[in-house]
Amino acid sequence: MTIGVLALQGDVREHLGALAELGVGARRLRTPADLAGIDGVILPGGESTTLSLLLASSGLFDPLAAAIGAGLPTFGTCAGLVLLAQDVRGGRPDQRGFGVLDCRVLRNGYGRQSESFEATIEVSASLGASAMPAVFIRAPLIESVGTDVEVLGWAETPRDGTRRPVICRQGNVLASAFHPELTGDRRLHRYFVGLVASSELETPEDPVAALAR
Ligand code: GLN
Repeated sequence: MTIGVLALQGDVREHLGALAELGVGARRLRTPADLAGIDGVILPGGESTTLSLLLASSGLFDPLAAAIGAGLPTFGTCAGLVLLAQDVRGGRPDQRGFGVLDCRVLRNGYGRQSESFEATIEVSASLGASAMPAVFIRAPLIESVGTDVEVLGWAETPRDGTRRPVICRQGNVLASAFHPELTGDRRLHRYFVGLVASSELETPEDPVAALAR
């Protein structure tokens, strides 16, 4: 298995480190040629506006959009979540995204850099149920999710105490509002690796091989 980490901007090294800890092969994605043979992709945190521009100038936007649209397992963290969301509030008008996760996010919805925070979040049984440490840095606030979206984690919003989704999954798309690569808790990366492994098993049998039998 090889997981590609989008390496145009943001905390790429931390995601590569997390995957190495799990013994999973990983590769930096900088050009369309880097997409060949990857089984999953991580969109790291950074600045979604900048990532949008760099995705276009590197030529990665269209092939990556096609691959994600075709079901390539994808894990977006923080700015990566913004890139995956169908409805982005507070973005730049020319900001582009993949629009594959049925949710509405508000960029920087938890406030400015000075309002970045660490929290212990509540997670679902599929992530082991016990509380998970989480670092939120100018994080997107998930305002609503569609009916096909499974919420796997929730956190209290420091400003007003409301309980909001912070980890979402829709099919092969996984996203977190926070930075799981910045803590030592590897459950979310492990969950994503499981998603990649199960989607490899679902790959339809090679039709030529099937005919030969
Ligand atoms: N505020 C950033 C954005 O909307 C995300 C910040 C982050 O990834 N830490 O792109």
